[in-house]
Amino acid sequence: MSGAQAPRVAIVGGGLAGIAAAVALGEAGHAVTLYEARPRLGGAACSFQRDGLTVDNGQHVFLRCCTAYRGLLDRIGGAGRVRLQDRFDVPVLTPSGRAGRLRRSVLPGPFHLLPALAAYSLLSPADRLRAVRASLALTRLDPGDPALDRVDLASWLAAHGQRGPAQETLWGLFAVAALNAAPEETALGAAVRVFRTALLGRAGAADIGIPSVPLGELHDTAAGAAIRRTGGEIRLAAKVEAVAPGPAIIVDGVRVEASAVIVATPHQQAARLLPVEAAPGRDRWSALSAAPIVNVHARYDRPVTGLPFAAVVDSPVQWVFDKTRVAGLGQGQYLAVSVSAAGRWIGEPAEKIRAEFVPALERLFPAARRARLTDFFVTKEPRATFRQAPGSGALRPPAATRWPGLYLAGAWTDTGWPDTMEGAVRSGLHAARLVRRFLRQAAAR
Ligand SMILES: Cc1cc2nc3c(=O)[nH]c(=O)nc-3n(C[C@H](O)[C@H](O)[C@H](O)COP(=O)(O)OP(=O)(O)OC[C@H]3O[C@@H](n4cnc5c(N)ncnc54)[C@H](O)[C@@H]3O)c2cc1C
Repeated sequence: MSGAQAPRVAIVGGGLAGIAAAVALGEAGHAVTLYEARPRLGGAACSFQRDGLTVDNGQHVFLRCCTAYRGLLDRIGGAGRVRLQDRFDVPVLTPSGRAGRLRRSVLPGPFHLLPALAAYSLLSPADRLRAVRASLALTRLDPGDPALDRVDLASWLAAHGQRGPAQETLWGLFAVAALNAAPEETALGAAVRVFRTALLGRAGAADIGIPSVPLGELHDTAAGAAIRRTGGEIRLAAKVEAVAPGPAIIVDGVRVEASAVIVATPHQQAARLLPVEAAPGRDRWSALSAAPIVNVHARYDRPVTGLPFAAVVDSPVQWVFDKTRVAGLGQGQYLAVSVSAAGRWIGEPAEKIRAEFVPALERLFPAARRARLTDFFVTKEPRATFRQAPGSGALRPPAATRWPGLYLAGAWTDTGWPDTMEGAVRSGLHAARLVRRFLRQAAAR
């Protein structure tokens, strides 16, 4: 036992899963210590400084249906620091100058996007009709059906008349961004969850939310303050070395007793931290593997587009965001290009990426040809998410382990959601509920 203090709940990992668990347990009156290996909170959704700018490691968006993440923002005082669309509205650009727009109508879900599909000018009228039919067929699938985990999205789309342009110009646009995988490498079940809950669910479900401050202000500063307000302790740069029976954790070579432990690290680290007796399935977690996201950052001496963000097809640019104000740039314009399923780019040097993306941006935004590029850099996240490939759903573990008082959290656990901020927060809240029940039962014994 470390000192005479009563054991606290130990949470290992200060990403959104660990943060959500810490906030929930602190609000419920439990003493919590959050251990984070890095010098800041936020995990995969964070910011850093570069030449006076505050840069997000990758653009993070959420949707109106992300109720758990939005609830966390409320609790940490961050809800006023994000912008949520009144109505789902996505401009879709192409390098040829042709553009489309997907905007929800006033119809109730799941019909709210059908008028937009029927008018989507980047598809031929016949493809639009087929897309409407496929959308309706998709609403009849159950994302929880284990059979859907074994099939890939592209095959299902092809079987429903969605080939070539429809796959790339419509389905891929959202599937790749939400699931960080190409349709042929995406489990159908995970994709159905995204499409049914967001795009084909309640009318407002897919309205897009974007932080209006750097991610670090929300997930590090505001989250840290909220945890400390309820008496929570945060230990940064504290890498937990092992989880031991008790439950207890080993940190800096010292055993720390805990009343309960939540391991909220990515799956690779969790597999190393948890003993096989606690998690007999841990060796299978490595098959969840990892999928990269690359962000390309371009700073110009003047504005080159008036769009706050856009989706792009027929270009290496997938989604592009105006980050000028968020990053604190006073003059010119700073665009961040988000590239998911970025296997093609992750191993390439920045010069090669620059040679492809600078001309690609100029084709999308002709004003960029007359502007001076004042900075260009690339951020790479090789393990941005787990690979949400066919079969991955069956590998995701539940929160409970074989050891009483030891729980798992993280966007990779069996949340029913893809590897997203929403999935992470849901997992943290679920683990917190299990800890509370465990502590209640322990107190009653
Ligand atoms: C570039 C990029 C863009 C993305 N875009 C979006 C998006 O637009 N929308 C969306 O919803 N999601 C997006 N995601 C996914 C989202 O960021 C993740 O799903 C979510 O943040 C994962 O949270 P987590 O808490 O499960 O894990 P993590 O954020 O990975 O947190 C785990 C934490 O555990 C810590 N840790 C590991 N080992 C130890 C140890 N031994 N001791 C102590 N601490 C340890 C790590 O340092 C880390 O901070 C994106 C991810 C990336 C990388």
